[in-house]
Amino acid sequence: MTETTYISIGSNLDEPRQQVIAAISELENIPNTNVITVSPWYCSSPMGPQDQPDYINGVAQLETTLDPQQLLQALQNIENTHHRKRQEHWGARTLDLDILLYGTQIVDQPDLQIPHPGLTTRNFVLLPLADIDPQLVLPNGTPHGIPLVTLLEICSSEGIVRLSPGDICGTTG
Ligand code: ATP
Ligand code: CA
Ligand code: CA
Ligand code: CA
Repeated sequence: MTETTYISIGSNLDEPRQQVIAAISELENIPNTNVITVSPWYCSSPMGPQDQPDYINGVAQLETTLDPQQLLQALQNIENTHHRKRQEHWGARTLDLDILLYGTQIVDQPDLQIPHPGLTTRNFVLLPLADIDPQLVLPNGTPHGIPLVTLLEICSSEGIVRLSPGDICGTTG
């Protein structure tokens, strides 16, 4: 069955703009998967350790017939081709791809939680998601789910700037 899924894309190392642009075609190349929409890009302050460059963040809407675990594997393969190194928690990285939503499914496995646990509080995820689909309602918070716009209202808008095409992010390009 084809599901709509939303992937957050982030980078703050080694030409972040090129990293995230390349990631879009790599997402398109995942088997049985198509990129439907890409959000505008944002420049955002880092979470966690502050001694790292600002991030470029965005969200891609995909349609896929892969199941969530297959999709996670495909995303980790892409991160690896970007020489993603796992060092400090929330430390600088060339590419981070997280599954935000997978249809209305809730996944709670040791290595995979969907909706992504950070989704409800991170402005650099909520803003680009809302750019793609402001009507989105999260499948958590049953019985009725939480509308994305409600999360946006309570979320801080500090430390984030929407980029226009051609803008550079900080000094990292
Ligand atoms: P955060 O998850 O808070 O954004 P992070 O992206 O820096 O932090 P990573 O080091 O990239 O964390 O990933 C740690 C693990 O998170 C991965 O190995 C993966 O198994 C797990 N994980 C759990 N849920 C998800 C999800 N929805 N999308 C991607 N990875 C997930
Ligand atoms: Ca494709
Ligand atoms: Ca992440
Ligand atoms: Ca991640």
